[in-house]
Amino acid sequence: MDYFTYKHGRLFCEDVPVEQITGEFGTPVYIYSAATLRYHYNRIVEAFSEADAMVCFSVKSLSNIHVLQLLADEGAGFDIVSGGELYRLQKIGADMSRVVFAGVGKTDDEIKSAISAGIAYFNVESEQEFENLSRLAKELTSPGSVRAALRVNPDVDPKTHKYITTGKRESKFGVDLERAEKFFDTYGRNSNVILDAIHLHIGSSIFSTEPYVQAITKTLDLIERLRAKGFEINFLDIGGGFAADYGQDVAPTAADYAAAILPLLRGKGLGLILEPGRQITANAGIIATKVLYVKDSGDKKFIIVDAAMTDLVRPAFYGGYHFIWPMVSDPAPQRRADYVPPEAVKVDVVGGVCESADFLGVDRLIPPVRRGDLLAVFSTGAYGFAQTSQFNSRPRSPEVLVEGDSYRLIRRRETYDDLIAPELEV
Ligand SMILES: *Cc1c(COP(=O)(O)O)cnc(C)c1O
Repeated sequence: MDYFTYKHGRLFCEDVPVEQITGEFGTPVYIYSAATLRYHYNRIVEAFSEADAMVCFSVKSLSNIHVLQLLADEGAGFDIVSGGELYRLQKIGADMSRVVFAGVGKTDDEIKSAISAGIAYFNVESEQEFENLSRLAKELTSPGSVRAALRVNPDVDPKTHKYITTGKRESKFGVDLERAEKFFDTYGRNSNVILDAIHLHIGSSIFSTEPYVQAITKTLDLIERLRAKGFEINFLDIGGGFAADYGQDVAPTAADYAAAILPLLRGKGLGLILEPGRQITANAGIIATKVLYVKDSGDKKFIIVDAAMTDLVRPAFYGGYHFIWPMVSDPAPQRRADYVPPEAVKVDVVGGVCESADFLGVDRLIPPVRRGDLLAVFSTGAYGFAQTSQFNSRPRSPEVLVEGDSYRLIRRRETYDDLIAPELEV
């Protein structure tokens, strides 16, 4: 679900014709819909309202401070994985008592800043990290003001791409369930850091509710064993991973996930934390890009556009699928991978970077396009701009946020000066 629609043959974001934005800011450009962000955030809050869940938006999926501000205004907490993300939240004055911090490689500086900021939970991933956190907490605060959740690895297969699978035993994240008990034996009564929660995050783009049911069931058994030993467990953070609809598989809705998960937690006396990223942001963004050249090399037809893997690395990185379509189109397309338009040509849509992996879509059936036409690359809100780079010395694209019939630039296009600004003078 999103608010990008074709009206009278032209693509709109909410009530703004996308061509108006490309006319003003050029291409390529990231365009976000505020209504879509709010819609998906609020569906999750509503679906999990019975558990009064703290919904911590995963900052890494879309980190622009204007988007963070919008979600903070809706009441969101935040899930961070670095000091840089903490800095972004400090810039918008986010409520730190609703911030959780995960990641296997937190540095001393990052931990110190987060302790001083007074975040809700450190999601701790190893014994050494806990000892380090305890040492720094003792140095910086009074006993009992720092709280930690142990990230466990419940060894379930979420059946997603191996690069975005994080809850299998061989993954670097968290500790396995047996080690978790020993972890509490050693650190569960630490006087500097209160360890009273369990965290899990089993992967991203999880298209079924079953892996959650398996992972939570295993984790609840662990919590029971820990409680039997006298440890107090107050919160369960089930991480992120809710899928978004990219036009290929049909993603479960927030209500579907809640229907599978909430019955497991009833009467367990656990506060619930969620860390959704992709389901909120994926469909809230598009990239508008211009056709530079059409190249027919006999077997293959290439549409070369001004966006590239530096703007969107998901296709190259993990075969991510994005529906791509001309911004002027009558009839309006069905935005599904298997949609065959009346008049179609099979093409690869590629960027201009010197890498063969630089493609946005392969073997796509789209209407014939010409040099200068505008294309929309849909569902690029999540892990889109967030994973951009300046590879090939390409300045990053701007970001625009649309709200109803108005829009504003929330990040300007980078300049050549931006490219070399941190380099010292020769
Ligand atoms: C990336 C990440 C998330 C968000 O994952 P989505 O698939 O975008 O929902 C949540 N929690 C942690 C710890 C993460 O690393």
